[in-house]
Amino acid sequence: SMLPNSQEARDVAYQLHPYTNARTHQQAGPLVIERGEGPYVFDATGKRYFEAMAGLWSVGLGFNEKRLVEAAHKQMQALPFYHTFSAKSHGPSIDLAEKLVALAPVTMSKVFFTNSGSEANDTVLKLIAYRSNALGQPQRKKVISRLRAYHGVTIASASLTGLPNNHRSFDLPLPNILHTGSPHFYKDGAPGESEEDFATRRAEELDALIQKEGPDTIAAFFGEPVMGAGGVIVPPATYWDKIQKVLKKYDILLVADEVICGFGRTGKMFGCETYGIKPDAIVVSKQITSSYFPLSAIILNDRMFEPIADESNKIGVLGHGFTAGGHPVGSAIALENLKIIEERGLVAHAAELGGYMQGKLRELASHPLVGEVRGVGMIAALELVLDKGRKTAASTPGAVGGIASRMLQERGVISRNMLDAIAICPPLITTKAQIDELVAAISGVLNDMKGEVAKLTPA
Ligand code: PMP
Repeated sequence: SMLPNSQEARDVAYQLHPYTNARTHQQAGPLVIERGEGPYVFDATGKRYFEAMAGLWSVGLGFNEKRLVEAAHKQMQALPFYHTFSAKSHGPSIDLAEKLVALAPVTMSKVFFTNSGSEANDTVLKLIAYRSNALGQPQRKKVISRLRAYHGVTIASASLTGLPNNHRSFDLPLPNILHTGSPHFYKDGAPGESEEDFATRRAEELDALIQKEGPDTIAAFFGEPVMGAGGVIVPPATYWDKIQKVLKKYDILLVADEVICGFGRTGKMFGCETYGIKPDAIVVSKQITSSYFPLSAIILNDRMFEPIADESNKIGVLGHGFTAGGHPVGSAIALENLKIIEERGLVAHAAELGGYMQGKLRELASHPLVGEVRGVGMIAALELVLDKGRKTAASTPGAVGGIASRMLQERGVISRNMLDAIAICPPLITTKAQIDELVAAISGVLNDMKGEVAKLTPA
C-alpha cells in the first residue's frame, strides 16, 4: 500500500527506527504524523488520532501551544546558542536553574543541565562516582535500581533500566549496577499477601541486598515515584516510607527519576510529593519543555554538591558536560512552559481531571479482559488478562496483544502496549469531554474483543 515516492516509502528506504521490527517495517512502513492540535495529532491523509500517550509520556501542553513557539522564536533571534562550559552562562539557563531549585519539593541547591533523560541518569552516575572519590570512599560506587524500571538507554542508564529487552544483546547491566524487586503488587504480590506486607517484603529484600553487597559499597538507590514504562506501577501507599528508612540506615543517596512524573503528571508538581519522597537528586526531562525541545536537568542538594565542589577544587574540574546542555532555546521554552503550567493551574487540573479519568477507567475493571486498572493523576494502565482469577497474561499474540493496534486502527487512539498492560497518559491540557471520548474508545475496543477472547480462553 506504500506509494513509490510517498513519505512512507522514503522512511522505509532511509530510516532505522527504535523499538520497531526492522524487518517487518520494510513491508508495513510508518504512521507519518504531520501536525498536532491539543491532544490530537494528524497523519498525512488528515486522519485524526487521540495521542493518549502524550507523545512518549511527554507533551503536557498539547501539540500546538503558540506561546512555546513564540518563546523559542524570540530566543532564537536573541541568542540561538551558547554553552555552559568553563564558567560561561546565559540568561535562560540561569533563570531556569533558579526556577527548578525553587520548584523542587525538598531543599535543593544546584542544577546540572543535560539533553535527555538517559543522559541525565548517566550523568547522575558520574556525579555519584566523582562524589565518592571526593569523600575518600572509592569503593562506594554501586547503585541499586529496580526490576521493571526504565531509566534510559545509554550504556549506564540502560544498566539502571530493569527490563530484559534493554539488557539482552548489549551485555548489560554493568557490574556495579544492581536490581531489586519492583513494587508491582498485582504481579509480584504473593497469594494472600496484603499491599502493606508486600511493601515490607520489598524493603526487607532491599536491606538484604545491601547487607550482602556490603553497605559501604552502595552509593545510591534510583527510582521513579510511579514507574512508567515498566507498566505504570503505582507503589503501595507505604512503600516509599519503608524504602527510605532502609536507605537512611545505611546513609545511601536517593535519586528520584521524575522524567515522567515531573511537572504535574501525578496530580502534584512532582511525584515525590505524592509519596513523601525526599531525594538527594531529581532528574527531570520531557514535560519540562512539553518536549518541544530536548532538555533535561538534574536538581541536586548540598549533600551531592558540596563534595563535588571540594573534589573539583582538589583534583581538577568536573570532566563531564554536554555541548547543548542548558541550551538557551530549550531553557526559554522550559521557562515559558513552567509559567503556563502555573498560570493555568495545570497541576490542580491534572489532579482533578486525573481523578475523573481514574474513576472512569475503573468502571472498565469489571470487563472480563481487565485484570486491574491502576494509576494516579493523569497516568494509568489497564492490565489485560485472559483469566481474571488466575491472572493469565493476555499478551498471547493474536489474542489481546493487539489491543493497542486495534485502538489505533479502529478508534484512532494512540496508546501503548507494555508487556501485558495498556498505558494511558494524555496531555495535561486534556478536557473532561476528551477523557470521555478516550474512555469510550477503550471500552468499545474491549467490547469488540470479548467474543475473540472467549474462543481463546480454555474452558
Ligand atoms: N527515565 C524515565 C523515567 C523515562 O521514562 C525515560 C524515557 N521514557 C527516560 C528516563 C529516558 O529519557 P530519554 O528517552 O530522553 O533518554
